[in-house]
Amino acid sequence: MPSTIDPSLEKNANASWQRRSRRHVWHPCTQSIRLEAVPPLPIARGEGVWLFDAEGRRYMDATSSWWVNLFGHAHPALNAALKDQLDRFSHVMLAGCTHAPAVELAERLSARTGHALGHCFYASDGASAVEIALKMSFHAWRNAGHARKRRFVALRQGYHGETLGALHVTDVPVFRDAYAPLLANAHLVASPDARRARPGEDAAAVAHRAADELDALLAAQHDTIAAVIVEPLVQCAAGMAMHDPVYLRRVRDACDRHGVHLIADEIAVGCGRTGSFFASEQAGIWPDFLCLSKGISGGYLPLALVMARDAIHQAFVDDDAARSFLHSHSYTGNALACRAALATLDLFDSEDVLARNRGRAQRLQHRLLDALEGQDVEHPRQRGMIAAFDVRAPGARFAERFHMAARAHGLLMRPIGNTVYLMPPYAIDDDDIDRLVDGTLAALDAAMANRPNEGARDAALA
Ligand SMILES: *Cc1c(COP(=O)(O)O)cnc(C)c1O
Repeated sequence: MPSTIDPSLEKNANASWQRRSRRHVWHPCTQSIRLEAVPPLPIARGEGVWLFDAEGRRYMDATSSWWVNLFGHAHPALNAALKDQLDRFSHVMLAGCTHAPAVELAERLSARTGHALGHCFYASDGASAVEIALKMSFHAWRNAGHARKRRFVALRQGYHGETLGALHVTDVPVFRDAYAPLLANAHLVASPDARRARPGEDAAAVAHRAADELDALLAAQHDTIAAVIVEPLVQCAAGMAMHDPVYLRRVRDACDRHGVHLIADEIAVGCGRTGSFFASEQAGIWPDFLCLSKGISGGYLPLALVMARDAIHQAFVDDDAARSFLHSHSYTGNALACRAALATLDLFDSEDVLARNRGRAQRLQHRLLDALEGQDVEHPRQRGMIAAFDVRAPGARFAERFHMAARAHGLLMRPIGNTVYLMPPYAIDDDDIDRLVDGTLAALDAAMANRPNEGARDAALA
């Protein structure tokens, strides 16, 4: 619900920012032609799970700002850590230098894998972490005398980012199709998405069927395949497609038997989002490379990293420059971002976040399942702090209609196609969970009530 409006705020400030934004800002994942019908929300400040627009109305950040925010906006502990780091230094190159935030973060993350993944390579965005993992995998095989291993296997409807290398292992048509002529050729194998169950199948059966296909591909072509890349447990950009953890055990086993690396892209599902700190933990496996970004900085600063096994790092320890990994980004190991990440890990330790989230996830699940009773929706599903359902007869531009209706109810939400998902910051309390569920249902009613019957194409809202 809109809060009281601060009289000191300028009237019509929203419209003014929207106009100026339209004039000079090129918005991501947005069809510019829709900016008039769906003007961007001008955000002036945030507090916990709430964002406030330029006229003082509040909106719950129910998508955690594209899945990055964990503990809410303007968190006192994160703010304090960053202010402290600001007074020391903000950034220094990580070639020829090192610093406490980068070292401590690598140490603490490695410890969270029981040191299975002992080395940490820093980058800035999720897509850059994926690029690094792909390059490292290929290069490690080449150093080992297997230069023919240079193709990658990705899952159907998977998403790994939108730079050219990351996009070549992404299978989301709206992001990929226009650039297909620029992309290398990856093998695509079946998604273990539990919604694909045939009559009589459960989620584990779908997972086994998908794993069989992957196993057969690796058996036939392992001598030209470097790595398999997967999003463990939830393919988020595909519309929160969830699968049984047995799939990951099968993939790990197939990779081991056929001599292929496993890259776990935990950019969206890491940092507690699915219930465990790393999603891979729920399958009891470790990949050879693990990509993290999004939540690792608490949603404060762009930070990404690739964790790799020590043995893989060792394969690059060589006098020959061509056998070393010389990749770099200007902001690699940014000290402010690493401090934000350390403060984020501190919160996991001091507040027992994973245990607290279990209670919150349960409340979210119960309230949402009750509320969806009798609605024309299917596949209600949840894994940790991600809940989702699919609308059966969404009509044209459903995501856009729902988004605008949700705003009117004080919620910032962006359905993916006909999938409505709730992915709030972990800071959400019981009352706000209830607000979120009630608002979601009210927005669903409103969006369905003004369903157009013309065949306009669905806007690319993700
Ligand atoms: C968001 C995301 C990426 C890309 O991260 P960016 O920071 O947007 O480049 C890659 N993989 C997955 C699974 C993601 O959700």
